[in-house]
Amino acid sequence: MGEAERGESAPRLRISFWCSNGHETQPSFARDAQVPDTWDCPRCGFPAGQDRDNPPDPPRTEPYKTHLAYVRERRSDADGEAILAEALAKLRGEI
Ligand SMILES: [Zn+2]
Repeated sequence: MGEAERGESAPRLRISFWCSNGHETQPSFARDAQVPDTWDCPRCGFPAGQDRDNPPDPPRTEPYKTHLAYVRERRSDADGEAILAEALAKLRGEI
């Protein structure tokens, strides 16, 4: 039998992490475990770091853009209309 697994919990470290929303989470780690730099906040899912005053940036959440919005950004109006017409035609099964 090994000497571990006797029901005694190994000493654990509680490490506080803060996300950019100010949530604190305190996962515990085995003493010999490697503590990660960031931890996902269980409340909002943002990455949380050990520096309370300087939490990691939240993930970039770009507003969803429709295909047409991209087309309008990148192309001239005329091109955009042609592409839109083509897209609509495809939707209708005309191509
Ligand atoms: Zn959070």
